[in-house]
Amino acid sequence: MKSLVKESPTPGFVLKDVPVPTIRDDEVLIRVHRAGVCGTDVHIHDWDDWAQGRCKPPFVVGHEFGGEVAEVGALVKDVKAGDRVTAEGHIVCGRCHLCRTGNSHVCPFTKIIGVDRDGCFAEYIAMPATNVWHLDDDVSFEVGGIHDPMGNAFHTALHGTEMPGATVLITGCGPIGIFAVGICKAAGASHIVASDVNPKRLALAMAMGAHNAVHPTEAEAAVRAATEGLGVDIVLEMSGVPSAIHQAFALVRVGGRVQMLGIPAKSIEINLATEIIFKGVTVYGVVGRRMYETWIQMTQFLRSGQFDPRPAITHRFPLKDHAEAIRVIKSGEAGKVVFEIT
Ligand code: NAD
Ligand code: ZN
Repeated sequence: MKSLVKESPTPGFVLKDVPVPTIRDDEVLIRVHRAGVCGTDVHIHDWDDWAQGRCKPPFVVGHEFGGEVAEVGALVKDVKAGDRVTAEGHIVCGRCHLCRTGNSHVCPFTKIIGVDRDGCFAEYIAMPATNVWHLDDDVSFEVGGIHDPMGNAFHTALHGTEMPGATVLITGCGPIGIFAVGICKAAGASHIVASDVNPKRLALAMAMGAHNAVHPTEAEAAVRAATEGLGVDIVLEMSGVPSAIHQAFALVRVGGRVQMLGIPAKSIEINLATEIIFKGVTVYGVVGRRMYETWIQMTQFLRSGQFDPRPAITHRFPLKDHAEAIRVIKSGEAGKVVFEIT
């Protein structure tokens, strides 16, 4: 089968033929139709410090996909050939303290497809049946193929927050921030301010329902105007940029909540006393998607018709154009980018 491979510990990907994976008795083989391309793939492509410390080439890249079940292992009961599916790409141990207390999204033994084992930028992928998630008939393979980052946005927006009626600031309108705008809107936020330095992405945030989409230098004025000077109830930090993180703590109201998804490239200094403690702020660190509360929410929001992620998808490429896909992501001109595989 055709697949996009991280062949060696150097920058780049190679498109090549590899054997179709064989499945274990508890796994399913999925024919991949659509696959989302993510910042993580860019890190692996560029072979940056994080990728060098984490990944062991050769392996097939890619962790976001939608497709059709081709074959199931002997022990698999509730998935069958022909099912339309996506999957949680974090494969957890199921037996550790965290897994056994309903917190498997932070299982320390997590293996991620396309990072720690073969991924989905290929015609087929093998997945444990427990990770498979069925798509409703009216959900396209393309939307199935972006459930992973959409799930990051659902997790950040809805876990532990009181979204109905809330005022919200979203710092960072990458694909996940743009999804988050639509989710907050569907969940009943009363006012959504989105910030980014990139005008194309601000336009996408407006298309997804933001009330204001502004450059970070204008975020404070927009937040003060929308909240009678108070600050927002909830900030979703979705950039990982230090100045945006400080702005998150500056613009959340006293007693508010900051949900932290963006990953800073290196450690940053925070004044805990003034930025968090004396403001009585609650901070939540987001890892992946909660298994499987986030997935249930995602399916139900899509079913309701009140949340539609499709305006966020701006570019589609065949696998052979992988270099162009990576280029448009790096350029900042794209929202969500998707490979059309089979
Ligand atoms: P992205 O890098 O495309 O989006 C970040 C956006 O922040 C960009 O549009 C950028 O222009 C914008 N930005 C830059 N400076 C800014 C500023 N000062 N104020 C506001 N916005 C600013 O990435 P994405 O795929 O949407 O992911 C968002 C973040 O979440 C990244 O840091 C990514 O690494 C992280 N992430 C975390 C998890 C997790 O489980 N915690 C999962 C996936 C992604
Ligand atoms: Zn575990």
